[in-house]
Amino acid sequence: MNDNALPRAEFAAERFRLDAGTKRRMISAIASRVIAHTDELTELDSAIGDGDHGHNMTRGFEAIVQDIDALAQLTLPELLRGAGMKLVTKVGGASGPLYGTLLIALGKEMPEEPTRAEIATAFAAAIGAVKARGKSDVGEKTMLDVLVPAYETLAAGGDAAAVREAAARAAAATVPMRATRGRASFLGDRSIGHMDPGARSSSLMIGSLCDELGDN
Ligand code: ADP
Ligand code: MG
Repeated sequence: MNDNALPRAEFAAERFRLDAGTKRRMISAIASRVIAHTDELTELDSAIGDGDHGHNMTRGFEAIVQDIDALAQLTLPELLRGAGMKLVTKVGGASGPLYGTLLIALGKEMPEEPTRAEIATAFAAAIGAVKARGKSDVGEKTMLDVLVPAYETLAAGGDAAAVREAAARAAAATVPMRATRGRASFLGDRSIGHMDPGARSSSLMIGSLCDELGDN
């Protein structure tokens, strides 16, 4: 089904109702995508960090998968909160608390059956929570350099494919950036020329979610 076929106003008012099977499929798809890219995330983090990002993220998503049946039974806000708590406790590093904050804040703002506009509003609030927690903003070569353009594309009315493309482009755009936050900032100019690992993991998760939504 192509969401674009719907007139804009109708599409905007449509509520996303996810049954347990759909939630399970989405969680599983995102977890598999991250786990399949463990080595790539490790290599990216080895270049400009301490090489643990792949392992950190995989540990977190393996814990989520272990609990997938219980998570899929929850309402969308409860599911987001539950998955966020897992990431906080299992991922570790800088990214665990930051991704955990993102999902917990998303859960706080997300209605059980959100419209597209409500998803965008919740995403904006969650990005604000990450910025506050990380004392960071766009342009510092972090996950925010993917999260913010993905949000902007969604808020501007982009469909799942457009959001996925924006996230992938934004991750690639971190390559020439100089890191001013997180471990990579210790490298100064030597952080230039490598993709930020957190930008890549954000792009992977958003891409996988968009693939699932695009199929609905
Ligand atoms: P650590 O840096 O503690 O080893 P990870 O390797 O798991 O943690 O995660 C590193 C990623 O976290 C970075 O690539 C970056 O995207 C993100 N990150 C680190 N610090 C911040 C921050 N202050 N704000 C936003 N994102 C950050
Ligand atoms: Mg690291």
